[in-house]
Amino acid sequence: MLEIQENVWLAPYTTLKVGGPAAFLARPTTQEAVIEALQWAQARSLPVFVIGGGSNLLVSDRGFPGLVLHMSISGIVSRSEDGKQIYSAGAGVVWDELAARAVADDCAGVECLSGIPGTVGGTPIQNVGAYGQDVAETIHCVRAVDTASGQPVIFSSSACEFSYRRSRFNQRDRGRYIITQVDYGLEPGGPPKLAYADLRRHFAESQEIPTLAEAREAVLAIRRAKGMVLDENDADSRSAGSFFQNPVVTRAQYERVAGASSLPVPHFEAADGQLKLAAAWLIEQSGIAKGFVLGSVAISSKHTLALTNRGGATAADVILLKEYVQRRVFQRFGIELHPEPVMLGF
Ligand SMILES: Cc1cc2nc3c(=O)[nH]c(=O)nc-3n(C[C@H](O)[C@H](O)[C@H](O)COP(=O)(O)OP(=O)(O)OC[C@H]3O[C@@H](n4cnc5c(N)ncnc54)[C@H](O)[C@@H]3O)c2cc1C
Repeated sequence: MLEIQENVWLAPYTTLKVGGPAAFLARPTTQEAVIEALQWAQARSLPVFVIGGGSNLLVSDRGFPGLVLHMSISGIVSRSEDGKQIYSAGAGVVWDELAARAVADDCAGVECLSGIPGTVGGTPIQNVGAYGQDVAETIHCVRAVDTASGQPVIFSSSACEFSYRRSRFNQRDRGRYIITQVDYGLEPGGPPKLAYADLRRHFAESQEIPTLAEAREAVLAIRRAKGMVLDENDADSRSAGSFFQNPVVTRAQYERVAGASSLPVPHFEAADGQLKLAAAWLIEQSGIAKGFVLGSVAISSKHTLALTNRGGATAADVILLKEYVQRRVFQRFGIELHPEPVMLGF
């Protein structure tokens, strides 16, 4: 029998530690329990929302007037198939446990994603990525329950429609599917991916290709230096990670930004001839520095893109800082910054 609690405060379920109560909360540990919870909510005409690690989430101070499913399906099994090692993990597995296990097994494909907070079930949603790697490169298939039909479904990787921080799960099918398991196809004995400049610099002195374990340690060290690994003793990690997406702009927009700046504008090629700008650079050039404080929230002292809770912050405080940053960047460059975290109950 699925246990359903009433009036559960959601702040502790998020890494930002803000947000009001859920009217109801359940912790499904199996796909059957997910289906049972859905039926329970549908019988009462309640909306349903899934929380994994709450690391990409801003919950409003009002909370959520429906049923929150705190995804708790555990377990990792692995098998060999067509030269790949397939890891099937329950949606509630802590993502870094899977990354650590793959590296310990000498399987390549997720080493650069070490230290990203959250759950396995959260990774397909925004095609989690870091240091030149993303989960779209290794996701073999995604198992989910369709809230429209109440039936289990399986998506191949291509059916997930992955692109930069996007998938069908946060675009056209936002909120429709409850992910219960993800299968990743990893490369036994493969080399680490060293695409990112910080990582390459880290190994610049070394003559040999680093091992996956060395790459993982390097990634964790770089992330810690930026407050991007959850750590109770590091107030800079009380965040939702990068709060703003890197804006993808037309060449004409880029020219306007370049015209408004005396410095070269960092940019990268993106799809369809567009260019990706660095949100952190735009924020800094708009006069907002690391460590900038607004009441009980602040820009991380280590990473311009992270909005942090300095203790006792409300969701309204976070929104004030978000809007302040967006306004300053828009006034300076005419570029609209879009938040990366999911907003619940606004
Ligand atoms: C310090 C820090 C560093 C971070 N660094 C990175 C980074 O380098 N790269 C990156 O891409 N992200 C990063 N993030 C963001 C975040 O960790 C990832 O997006 C993560 O995958 C979110 O997973 P979660 O389980 O915490 O999802 P949640 O925050 O709980 O939920 C986010 C969204 O996913 C949905 N969701 C979660 N689980 C499921 C499920 N099982 N089924 C259906 N929907 C689901 C929720 O409904 C919600 O819409 C960082 C966050 C923090 C706090």
